[in-house]
Amino acid sequence: MATSVEPSAGARAKYEPVIGLEVHVQLLTASKIFCSCSTRFGDPPNTNVCPVCLGLPGALPVLNRKAVEFATLAAMSLNCEIRETSIFARKNYFYPDLPKGYQISQYDKPLAEHGFIEIEAGPFDSVQGKLAGTPVAPKKKIGITRVHLEEDAGKSLHEGFAGASEQTAIDLNRSGVPLIEIVSEPDIASPEEAYDYLTRLKEIILYTGVSDCNMEEGSLRCDANVSVRLRGEKKFGTKTEVKNVNSFRFIREALEYEIERQIEVIESGGKITQETRLYNSVEGKTYGMRSKEQAHDYRYFPEPDLLPLVVDEKWQAQIRSTLPELPEARRKRMVADYGITAQDAHVLTLTKSLADQFESAAKAAKNPKRVANLVQSELMGRLKARGLEIEQSPISMKGVAESADLVESGAISGKMLKDLYDLCFERGKDFPEVYAEQGRPQQSGDTSAIEKIVDEVIAANPKQVEQYRAGKKTVAGFFVGQVMKLSKGQANPQLVNQLVTKKLG
Ligand SMILES: [Zn+2]
Repeated sequence: MATSVEPSAGARAKYEPVIGLEVHVQLLTASKIFCSCSTRFGDPPNTNVCPVCLGLPGALPVLNRKAVEFATLAAMSLNCEIRETSIFARKNYFYPDLPKGYQISQYDKPLAEHGFIEIEAGPFDSVQGKLAGTPVAPKKKIGITRVHLEEDAGKSLHEGFAGASEQTAIDLNRSGVPLIEIVSEPDIASPEEAYDYLTRLKEIILYTGVSDCNMEEGSLRCDANVSVRLRGEKKFGTKTEVKNVNSFRFIREALEYEIERQIEVIESGGKITQETRLYNSVEGKTYGMRSKEQAHDYRYFPEPDLLPLVVDEKWQAQIRSTLPELPEARRKRMVADYGITAQDAHVLTLTKSLADQFESAAKAAKNPKRVANLVQSELMGRLKARGLEIEQSPISMKGVAESADLVESGAISGKMLKDLYDLCFERGKDFPEVYAEQGRPQQSGDTSAIEKIVDEVIAANPKQVEQYRAGKKTVAGFFVGQVMKLSKGQANPQLVNQLVTKKLG
């Protein structure tokens, strides 16, 4: 990391970082939170707008039921308690992309509170951000203070239109798009833990299907609050907020920089200013932007144009019934159900779609463990080599299951399977199709045919026979190889081995 402020290891060890994260997630509703305008990304500027989301005088908001259901589902997936009656509040501030002069959010009575996410507690691989070694490790709970609903603001444009060098334009398509804000407790003790928390959070939200969590399109945005204090100290230090960092890796880097910067300032007798800082990923540094508003500067008060939001027990039960099995629980069950390792389960649950496909294939196969092995050993490697995602694989999970059954029954050898997989990728076709095109090859268990080949090979290589009989038993491997070659890889290797040893005496 590029940094000019590196306190000594001794100074660094005296302090501990305290980190809290605020994550905004855009909900995948078709229309905005308080009007029926489309939420579609990438439409021409200011085409999805109406008096409500333009903030015109007299326009009244009407709450989107789907946004409430999605927000509640997300909160449930994060182990939150749902507040039966929550209140929308006006957060007043002036900004060019906020035509109303306030944002409708929630304040002292948010939709949900007191949740948590479990992360793996060290040791971490600092490059991967993942746990080194076994994935079975102690867990650490990171508290979630609150999950609340709010509307997004518009967007200032600084490029892509005539006169962009002198002017800023405003696109209000995003104004009124539904968001949830997920605020963590300051339980995060290192940049690595922050990275892991965000990875888990995104994985869980993706499983619920309430957001696509696409960081490039701004569907997931993260702000980090960070301070340092002397180890053992109870009181928090003064925090800074790092805003609008657009990847989890950059958040980790920004936090690493910011922690070192704060220690350096304190160690040299200075004071931390409470402020918002921006991260420059090219330089690997943060820069002060503006002093941070205190909460009371927003003049929060209950939104007079909206009734209290009531999500009663019956509605909560309905929403809870749509909660899918979440990644962590699914991994545990898959280990138990299919006899696979925790590592296998980790790879196979990277996305919900992959886990769904795997499970339907494994259920249909004779040996689920073999399906898991083939996915990891034969499929993932080939996908990675071609830069493909699992969704783009020519071989479906059903195809993997069929091939696993063929190996399981002894119909084809491991070598034949590899060749067939290569053909699938070359031709961009699924396994059953390629297997049929190749004439449904079978490894030969026909003893007399293999015996004939063994005899031929022995007759053709008298020198090697002599070596073998003189005690150089490793030469057997040469004969097995020759027989396999002549049978075009279709002889059963174990049978060949037996016959070669027998014939050579
Ligand atoms: Zn609208």
